[in-house]
Amino acid sequence: MKIQILSDEMASRIAAGEVVERPASVVKELIENSLDARSSEISIWIEKSGSALIRVTDNGEGMEPEDLEIAAERHATSKLKETEDLFRIATLGFRGEALPSIGSVSKMEVLSRPPAASSGYRLRVDGGKKQQVSPVATAIGTTIEIKDIFFNTPARRKFLKSPGTELSHICDVVNRMALAYPAVHFLLQHDGRNIADYVAVNDAKDRLHQVLGREVAKRLVPFRRGLGEIMVEAYLSTAPTSFPNARYLYTFVNGRYVRDKILTHAVLFGYETLLMKGQYPAVVLFIELPFSDVDVNVHPAKYEVRFRRQSDVHDAVSLSVREALRIEARIPLPLAEIPWVSSPFSGVREAPLPYAGAGLAHRYEAFPARTDVFAVPGRAEPVQAGFFSSLQIFGQILGCYLVCASSTGLALIDQHAAHERVAFEKLRRQLDIGKVERQSLLIRQTVELSAGEMMLLEQKLNVMEHFGFSLEPFGPGCYAITAAPALLPEGDYSQTVRQMIAELADVDTSAKLRQHLEDRLATIACHSVIRAHRKLEPREMRALLEALDQSDFATQCPHGRPVLIEWSQADLDRLFKRLI
Ligand code: ADP
Ligand code: MG
Repeated sequence: MKIQILSDEMASRIAAGEVVERPASVVKELIENSLDARSSEISIWIEKSGSALIRVTDNGEGMEPEDLEIAAERHATSKLKETEDLFRIATLGFRGEALPSIGSVSKMEVLSRPPAASSGYRLRVDGGKKQQVSPVATAIGTTIEIKDIFFNTPARRKFLKSPGTELSHICDVVNRMALAYPAVHFLLQHDGRNIADYVAVNDAKDRLHQVLGREVAKRLVPFRRGLGEIMVEAYLSTAPTSFPNARYLYTFVNGRYVRDKILTHAVLFGYETLLMKGQYPAVVLFIELPFSDVDVNVHPAKYEVRFRRQSDVHDAVSLSVREALRIEARIPLPLAEIPWVSSPFSGVREAPLPYAGAGLAHRYEAFPARTDVFAVPGRAEPVQAGFFSSLQIFGQILGCYLVCASSTGLALIDQHAAHERVAFEKLRRQLDIGKVERQSLLIRQTVELSAGEMMLLEQKLNVMEHFGFSLEPFGPGCYAITAAPALLPEGDYSQTVRQMIAELADVDTSAKLRQHLEDRLATIACHSVIRAHRKLEPREMRALLEALDQSDFATQCPHGRPVLIEWSQADLDRLFKRLI
């Protein structure tokens, strides 16, 4: 017979491989237990990046000695009573795997005392070997101490990264937990030094300040929205704040930090064309939904979840994000927010975000106006109706900037960016209803194409048609343009067509189509604009400003560049050193 049942010790070590990947995983599991025990203070003490010692102390409900006896057994949990509970998990833990797993790969000591007990008890587990539970003097709550992690699994130990990296993983874990539980005091110490001391606060925004730092936190706009049973609460960066990676993108589901593709995608989808390529926003997103609508039992370390109604969640998040940004975008950027030096916009390109969703914009337009909770605290007048029309225009300088006075100060408008945004929105509206206005060309223009381009174009003729371009074969290696979008100024269209063919080459799945359509819109919009260095008549300037008032996201061009920069009186006073 070749099959044997694994010993408990072996099974625990195998399970530990999934749950305990590195010191930070231990920290995560222990904090989760402390939070499940309703602690209001959690201290984390680390030595040598966790390889020598991890100690987590809480002031929660503690364990009776009988509980301690079995706490480190496999599948021992106080959090699931019946099978149905598995489908409505309200606690962070539920698998009963953390303590046995940790205990099997380290030297673990658990001291615990429930608030009503006069003394505490201690449990020791040494590489999976349990010792007798014995009385001990200890404070109310629980302290779990892990020494010499992976001492008996040298292969694991070898996989650990540099102490700096391991420590940064620990910090990340603590930060994520802290973001989700602002009312809990978190203290993190490493080798005797305070790394984080987040005192309890009432307001999630204050916790953001503690965790993300003032610089990032102050740029985040809060919003909250309920959609059916899904509650979305988020703190979002608005352009031009962005980051080259997703480092500041935090998503939480029912108080649990998760790395969920759907949620990340939904957030980025919500930002749409407002981010430059390769840029990510800072977002702290919390969604709350009925426990029975999320399956948290899909990942051993519980980093992933499955939603019962995935597309509802996706839509709720992306629509809320978009709505919040839309409101925000109508408010001109104050001077201090423009990153003059750090981001010269040199790398502006099409295709701002690599996402693969489809058709959302359609549904978005049809979205009923809700009267649900939707608040953008901290902004007294979210939408300034007719802001651009209310500007007093002084004229155009340098052939591309409009100089204006607003009611609060001086405003400069980039006519190219402004026109691009206006053209983009107009085209998008036309595209959405399937009617892009076109102009027939009296004199057809020919485009010479390579064999590859010919092939591509043949397949994409209907897409081109959709955008307002009519094309007909015109001899070998040649197509004739017979109509073009009305929005494009008269001129040579072959460049635009050629560029669109190149861009459409990447679109093979219909899922990506919508994204690409929008990028192509940006291309057409870009080709349609009044190029810099063209003098505008006063009447044209006025029309441009009025058109901006009709656009969403009027303060940025479709590539994410600002349309408007405003100097308030305070900004000017500061520039002239009247105010220090
Ligand atoms: P789970 O959290 O999945 O239930 P664990 O192995 O993490 O499994 O913990 C086992 C049990 O030990 C928990 O269900 C809980 O009852 C108890 N426990 C663990 N840590 C604490 C703590 N800090 N305070 C109170 N009880 C705890
Ligand atoms: Mg647990």
